[in-house]
Amino acid sequence: MHKGSCLCGAVSFRLRSEPKAVANCHCRMCQKQHGAAFATYASVPKSDLEYLAGQELLTSYNSSGSVIRKFCSVCGSNVEWSGSKKFPGWVSIAVALLDTSFAPKSIKDIHLESRVCWL
Ligand SMILES: [Zn+2]
Ligand SMILES: [Zn+2]
Repeated sequence: MHKGSCLCGAVSFRLRSEPKAVANCHCRMCQKQHGAAFATYASVPKSDLEYLAGQELLTSYNSSGSVIRKFCSVCGSNVEWSGSKKFPGWVSIAVALLDTSFAPKSIKDIHLESRVCWL
């Protein structure tokens, strides 16, 4: 079972199933939110994400359409991405927060149209 936590450690969670559909997202919103060239997310059914601590510290931001991004209000770590109209029952987790080793078999690069030149 995978476990993860934010930078300050106040928010921690575990995943009841193996995360799927791992993607490096190069869209401008992920770049800005993560302050990075891309964001890596993997998805689990919403019921498979269990918070162990700090869920009340998450702040939600509606970045576009129905998409909600949640981050730790103490340290700013990005935690959740959800609200996909295509996959309403799923939540994506920022893979970099995992404290357990995770070696996905395949990773997709998406929204390469806004890929940065300095990567
Ligand atoms: Zn935090
Ligand atoms: Zn993105």
